[in-house]
Amino acid sequence: MKITFLGTGTSQGIPVIGSTHPVCLSSNFKDKRLRVSVLIQWDNYTYVIDCGPDFRQQMLRADCTKMDGILFTHEHADHTAGLDDIRPFFFKQGDIPIYAHKRVIKELKRRFDYIFETENKYPGAPNVLINKIKNKPFSLHNMKVVPIKGLHYNLQVFGFRFDRFAYLTDMKTIEDKEVDKLKDLDVLVVNALRKEPHVSHFTLDEALAFVKKVNPKKAYLTHISHLLGFHDEVQQQLPENVFLAYDNLQITI
Ligand SMILES: [Zn+2]
Ligand SMILES: [Zn+2]
Repeated sequence: MKITFLGTGTSQGIPVIGSTHPVCLSSNFKDKRLRVSVLIQWDNYTYVIDCGPDFRQQMLRADCTKMDGILFTHEHADHTAGLDDIRPFFFKQGDIPIYAHKRVIKELKRRFDYIFETENKYPGAPNVLINKIKNKPFSLHNMKVVPIKGLHYNLQVFGFRFDRFAYLTDMKTIEDKEVDKLKDLDVLVVNALRKEPHVSHFTLDEALAFVKKVNPKKAYLTHISHLLGFHDEVQQQLPENVFLAYDNLQITI
């Protein structure tokens, strides 16, 4: 299984528009972060988790030529705003499968009403195949996917486990029975926004405590704000099996 970090930034991305913060002005490519998303490929299959406003650029950058489906963690715009840009995949392949909690599907229908239109649909609008997921495992071809439920302030979000890889973003609290689903991981990806407290995201310390609890072989941190600091400086402060993810990073599991 090959994982590509398409974006590792928080909702505004890095650099933030108009910002003169030193991290936003950094010339290090690891300090430039598109909105959070990850590409998961195994055998001949290609899936993406979330489809934010940078989706088009991310697909071009990753040279992605087909899309077997999109899994959504939750409905926030930094995870969903790129849905219209599935059009090139739709034109080549037909309906694109999407997987999300029923509340998220409802939100997508409201925001992208023309995509979900069933009568007199405007030609050129893409079509999706809706898969509502609950908090129980489902299959993508030969892969078992296990949803992990957490809270993002008071909003339910799903993380996803694929075999010995798990991807969790926009988490603030996770019940122990959900943490139990994360045993024996090779790689855990989890969000770490910044050092200062935040109402709906793990801080760096909270993310590190969570990594310790889950105890994967390796962990990568994502959904990073410019306020966390320079990539290279923060990386030096992390335990030896914990890494800051950065855009275009690829790992094989
Ligand atoms: Zn987010
Ligand atoms: Zn969010």
